Amino acid sequence: MEAILTYDIAFTIARAIAYAMMRYNREIVETSGTEGGVIDAPFQIVPVPADAAQACFVGAALQVYWARMAALLDPATVVPVEPAGSCPVCGSPAVASVVYAEGSLQGVRFLCCPLCASEWHCVRIKCANCQSTKGIAYHHIPEQPAVKAETCDECGTYTKILYKDKDPDGEPFADDLATLGLDVLVGEAGWARATPHPFLAPATG
Ligand SMILES: [Zn+2]
Ligand SMILES: [Zn+2]
Repeated sequence: MEAILTYDIAFTIARAIAYAMMRYNREIVETSGTEGGVIDAPFQIVPVPADAAQACFVGAALQVYWARMAALLDPATVVPVEPAGSCPVCGSPAVASVVYAEGSLQGVRFLCCPLCASEWHCVRIKCANCQSTKGIAYHHIPEQPAVKAETCDECGTYTKILYKDKDPDGEPFADDLATLGLDVLVGEAGWARATPHPFLAPATG
């Protein structure tokens, strides 16, 4: 018999995983003191070596569930949260950012949520992690000019930026993953990712 995975089945599976993760996450949230957004479920990546191979599948399932939940919200209920680098919908830290190229959004930067796919405004030349406007620099590799790493000397982290004028079809979450060479470049220069990519949960030990 042919197995067919419909969206409803995928959503049900994703919801079950999300509920399990929320119960697990609750302890982390309470101990970390992280402020949540509207849905109030900050996405924490806790590397467990034995589960590393499954991490990307769990992350993908969680995205299905939270993106659906975020889409059901009334936009009027979504307000900025602190710290400013946190998703106003679910409280997750921004994983990447994008600068749009068309219409009224031309040149405007948005931070991107790794969990619910929401995007929220953040001015340019400002660290998404610590909000510093000092010690900001940009790095890229010549073969992939549409994505730059914005490094911050104040907190020692970086967040990538996808420039839509250079790649109109680019997608910040996917292109973050597709530019691992840039991670190596800035990592070797001493900066750390502000937020790990959920499909590349870091190993421990
Ligand atoms: Zn979110
Ligand atoms: Zn910073």
